[in-house]
Amino acid sequence: MSVFSNRDFADHEQVVFCSDDRSGLKAIIAVHNSNLGPVLGGCRMWPYASEDEAVRDVLRLSRGMTYKSAIANLKLGGGKSVIIGNPRTDKTPELLKAFAQAVERLHGRYIAAEDSGTGVDDMKYMAQFTRHVSGVHDKPAEHGTRSGDPSPSTAYGVFVGIQAAVRERLLRDSLDGLRVAVQGLGHVGLDLARRLKGAGAELWVTDLQREPLLAAGKELGATVVAPDDIFGLDVDVFAPCAMGAVINDQTVPQLKAKIVAGAANNQLAEPRHGAVLMERGILYAPDYVINAGGIIDVYHERIGNFDPAALARHIEGIHDTLLEVFARARKEERPTGEVADAIAEERFKR
Ligand code: NAD
Repeated sequence: MSVFSNRDFADHEQVVFCSDDRSGLKAIIAVHNSNLGPVLGGCRMWPYASEDEAVRDVLRLSRGMTYKSAIANLKLGGGKSVIIGNPRTDKTPELLKAFAQAVERLHGRYIAAEDSGTGVDDMKYMAQFTRHVSGVHDKPAEHGTRSGDPSPSTAYGVFVGIQAAVRERLLRDSLDGLRVAVQGLGHVGLDLARRLKGAGAELWVTDLQREPLLAAGKELGATVVAPDDIFGLDVDVFAPCAMGAVINDQTVPQLKAKIVAGAANNQLAEPRHGAVLMERGILYAPDYVINAGGIIDVYHERIGNFDPAALARHIEGIHDTLLEVFARARKEERPTGEVADAIAEERFKR
């Protein structure tokens, strides 16, 4: 395959292919841009259908991390890694050790964190073989301590992001009575639903699993709907917290929500869907801006002297960043995603 001329290569500083015969490791570490600092990004494990698919995924994701860290005001560059394999059947201690050793050989240019297919326990195990892994320490939290899992911080960031979007689009400060449809009640979605309920919102929820739906129905009084019915609900906010590409040619015509704001990565199937939302008067909170709470959390753990109040303030900055994106998008009559990209580039290309 071509590399430098590949569109996804997008000026990557370094791409490292790692293999280890004994453990069967096949992994790629991509360092997109380190102008603002060392690159920190998740390590995804996935049974990619082809090596090309794995390369494309890691390059796109690492580029996205540069934008996410820059707009979240972090002194971090963007990078990502992928391990090719099925996390349920192929993940062994030997494989994680070999991957950690590959990370260590980069001497801190890339710092790994959990992602789809890897978890806090994997990171803790890898930390025996490399210093360059984050999201591994138990942290003080509002009530006692919590693990390195960044999901609660992501959920908090999405919550304050929804407040900003409501201010901009609905011209109100309170979430009391706000009607929100949450797609996906995993680590982030369920926590977000609890926060929204606490602020007085009315909830509609969906998931592919039964347990979180039962929890949301019982604990939060949420109305449970089938996965396909979540798009067309007569709500104020649609919060995608499951998977990517949910804003597409099939779903946009169904949307009645005035705001799309959720945790999922890569929500727009194609960049043009940002313009389509704008034309329909739907305010889109760019995914990598609103879901940056997790990377902010991991960063605060990384810099040491973990201070929950400083972390909370930093996450709350997502609110103001979004207001800046929305105001500029309104003034320049451009899709919010384009404006967010421009602001991020102004920061990391400086
Ligand atoms: P998760 O795997 O814990 O939860 C996802 C949930 O979505 C699961 O309960 C799953 O059953 C459900 N789901 C999957 N497909 C669905 C569908 N078609 N309809 C309805 N529900 C469906 O993941 P998470 O950690 O909660 O992350 C959610 C999203 O947010 C992902 O896109 C992730 O990449 C993104 N994100 C997460 C974090 C984080 O800190 N966890 C940070 C940034 C972005």
